[in-house]
Amino acid sequence: MMERMQERLQQRREAGSVASHFPEVANIVMNMTYNQRGAKSILRTFHFTPDSYAFFRVNCLRKDCVDGGFDLTQVIIAMVKNHRVEAKGTISCEGTDSSTDHSDIVYEVAIQYT
Ligand SMILES: [Zn+2]
Repeated sequence: MMERMQERLQQRREAGSVASHFPEVANIVMNMTYNQRGAKSILRTFHFTPDSYAFFRVNCLRKDCVDGGFDLTQVIIAMVKNHRVEAKGTISCEGTDSSTDHSDIVYEVAIQYT
């Protein structure tokens, strides 16, 4: 468990800062409703500033989920490229475990530019 956290931390550091990837971005807010089968929906919000790590992967909350998660990196890159301020969508968990389709997120991303 500890090792996994360290690994995540390492990935985060290697991602570099938001400013280094997207110098024109002032802040990013990711709102997502996490839906897990058989569980209550959870609203999660993530704020990014230019100093934040440009790491837009969110963990799946299901305990037995293997290699799961939701990667919004491509969403963010596409938004910045097109200078879009809002995007919405749904992503299913990439993880594999006893049940496929065990969770998804409905996301709303808002970006402010400098
Ligand atoms: Zn999962």
